[in-house]
Amino acid sequence: MDSVSRDVEILKKIMSVDDEIAFSSNHVNSMKEIINSKILLVEKLKEKIDIVKKKKENEEKNIAVENDKISVYESQLANAKSKIDNVLSEREFEALNEQIEVSTISIELCKKNIKRIVDLIQDYNGEIDEFNFKIKCINDEIKKIEDQVSLIFADSNEKIDVLAERRCALLDELGSDTRVLYESTKNNSTNGIAIVSVVDGFCGGCFLTVTKQKRLDILQHDRIVLCESCGSILVDVVNTDEDSCISG
Ligand SMILES: [Zn+2]
Repeated sequence: MDSVSRDVEILKKIMSVDDEIAFSSNHVNSMKEIINSKILLVEKLKEKIDIVKKKKENEEKNIAVENDKISVYESQLANAKSKIDNVLSEREFEALNEQIEVSTISIELCKKNIKRIVDLIQDYNGEIDEFNFKIKCINDEIKKIEDQVSLIFADSNEKIDVLAERRCALLDELGSDTRVLYESTKNNSTNGIAIVSVVDGFCGGCFLTVTKQKRLDILQHDRIVLCESCGSILVDVVNTDEDSCISG
């Protein structure tokens, strides 16, 4: 086997090792993303609770205001009642009687207001309980996912270590020019992918068309072929559609 063919075979093995490493770390990362989105949800619910608590505090202040009013009306009422038996004129009697009526109605009104506010506060408490229950459920879910992640993480770290060792051994087998090419391609790549196949005429890295000449070059192993668009090393030509062929 000539040196290019040998290197291409090794590059294909490195490609599958790289894919496995990417798969292992992606799995953990996607679970961490789910956890983060749930944490955000909890934060939003806590903000909602704070808003409801503020409303509740305001209403509690309103109850205090109504109670103060009741005290004033009650002393007015007591004052009028104490005087009414000793009035000197009809006019004075009328005035005190009116005072008693107004105070009594006002006290009733304040009590009604307090009852309405107490009902409102009860509604707010219900809302807060509901939000807290949701937070508890989400936190339980987060805990479950975190447990899974730590299991998978330990497992995948071990796996990635083994895969990285395998990649090192494969790199040592490559010709020095190809090895340098692989390392610079990997370092320049935005997603860490250095080696891909051409699938149905498209580069597996950037999904742009690879020319017929390049596809022939890849199959003939005359040289190591790179994608013109993304710079990935192209090691194989794969056709998923049985009818298509290299001339397609
Ligand atoms: Zn490409």
